[in-house]
Amino acid sequence: MSCFYCKGDIIPSTTVYTAQIGNTVIVIKNVPCEECDQCGEIEISHEVMLKIDHIIELATQLMQDVAVIDYQTAA
Ligand SMILES: [Zn+2]
Repeated sequence: MSCFYCKGDIIPSTTVYTAQIGNTVIVIKNVPCEECDQCGEIEISHEVMLKIDHIIELATQLMQDVAVIDYQTAA
């Protein structure tokens, strides 16, 4: 598999995903993704995005200003 943008190599990696829902900022650490080792473009799979949606849904119920969640423990 090669990068859509630069045709560089895609390698497994992790990233930080942030989302803002109303006044709540949600930060999810250690999200598995594929990363281009040439341009740094990041791709998150559909399966992982579904889990992120679920984590965000849970996080918004906490009603905190900022929620920091570790993907590995929440997924
Ligand atoms: Zn690339």
